[in-house]
Amino acid sequence: MRIETLDLEFGHTPETIAAFLVFGPEGPVLVETGPASTLPTLLARLEEHGVAPGDVRHVLVTHIHLDHAGAAGWWAQQGATVYVHPRGARHLIDPSKLLTSAERIYLDRMDELWGQTLPAPAERVVAVEGDTTIEAAGLSFVALDTPGHARHHHVYRLGDVAFTGDAAGVRLGDRHWIDLPGPPPEFDLGAWKGSLNRLRLEKLDTIYRTHFGATSNVSHQLDRFESHLVQGAAFVRDMMAEGLDRDSMVARYNETLRKWASDDGVDDATALAYELANPRFMSVDGIARYWRKRAEQSDI
Ligand SMILES: [Zn+2]
Repeated sequence: MRIETLDLEFGHTPETIAAFLVFGPEGPVLVETGPASTLPTLLARLEEHGVAPGDVRHVLVTHIHLDHAGAAGWWAQQGATVYVHPRGARHLIDPSKLLTSAERIYLDRMDELWGQTLPAPAERVVAVEGDTTIEAAGLSFVALDTPGHARHHHVYRLGDVAFTGDAAGVRLGDRHWIDLPGPPPEFDLGAWKGSLNRLRLEKLDTIYRTHFGATSNVSHQLDRFESHLVQGAAFVRDMMAEGLDRDSMVARYNETLRKWASDDGVDDATALAYELANPRFMSVDGIARYWRKRAEQSDI
């Protein structure tokens, strides 16, 4: 089985966002679409592999965030079938709510970052429950319900490899550092730990991270990511306990994670690529929201 990692060069920066091209016995399957803004790059990459847009009949997206599925509507409008978690399906069909919440985060940078996110025709969207098998182009993908980064996140297993979306963290290429992508509103530390356990049980040989690339030492990657996840979440909880306001938390989180990454060998240019793939202020907002919600629940 041939799998190609396609570099979408998001923000003109290599190795930040990937899509994956899987050659099945009956044709190609695209896993992740990237944002609409990188569609020209994606089409160029496909062409390099001899794939025309009309050849792509099946598109799997791990979740609906714009960096993973922003171009899904375009593909659906070309007639491809798009497979997505049931909680994400309606947002591909009508992206207005998704775009409104992204606008709150990205303000006037929406177009530049994400391009024009198109709605997917409803009949081209297939909502896939966890543990369901998707038969596409002669290949069998199993959807693994893997909440944590978002409630509607699937990892797609194909034999002994898997496309992990954001579930295994943000690690660019073969660099050592793994960043925690914890955006609002659905970041959930407890659920994420459960998802990592689930992935361990799958005994995978190789995982393909959307940010960015393949890793074969899977259990090591999952263990290291889990420790970064726990450490990052605890760091935000401690700042909240100190009573820091939001902007001070963002500043300190940024500074501290940059230091941790730099101690782990990340140079300045690479630090910017990590920030592009995973804006840190977003994780502060998402993690803080998670802790606040938990505190409210335990008050009841
Ligand atoms: Zn992502």
